[in-house]
Amino acid sequence: MMIWVPANMIYTFKKIITMRNEKFKDTIFTIKCEKCGNEKQIGMKDINYFGFHKSKSTTVSANIGLVGASYTKYSYFAKKFYCDKCGKKTWQEVENYGVIAEEYAKLVYPIIIKQLIILAVGSTIISIFPN
Ligand SMILES: [Zn+2]
Repeated sequence: MMIWVPANMIYTFKKIITMRNEKFKDTIFTIKCEKCGNEKQIGMKDINYFGFHKSKSTTVSANIGLVGASYTKYSYFAKKFYCDKCGKKTWQEVENYGVIAEEYAKLVYPIIIKQLIILAVGSTIISIFPN
C-alpha cells in the first residue's frame, strides 16, 4: 500500500506527459504583446504550457460531462514573454490558450478518473487482504 499508491500516481503522470507531448507536439500558440500589440506564434516548448511560471488568467469552471468532472476554462491567459518590438519581456496574452486547455482537459480527465477508480478498487482489495 505504501509503495503501490505513489507508484501508480507516477505511472499515471508519466502516461499523461507522453500523451500530451504526442497530441500537442505541433500546437501553435498566438501571443500578443499587451504593450505594443505585436503578435507572434510560438510552439508548445516555448510556452512551457504546464510549467509553474508566473502567469495571469481569468477562468470560469466548465463541465465536460464526465462523472460531473469540471475543469478550468480560460477566457484570458497571459504570461511574460520577450517582445521583439519592445525589446524586453512584457505581459503577452496567449490568444488560443482556452481552446488548447480545453483539449488538454478532455485528454487528461478520462485518464485521471479511471486512475482514481483503479486506486479506490485497489485500496479496497488491499484493506480486505492486509497481508
Ligand atoms: Zn511589445
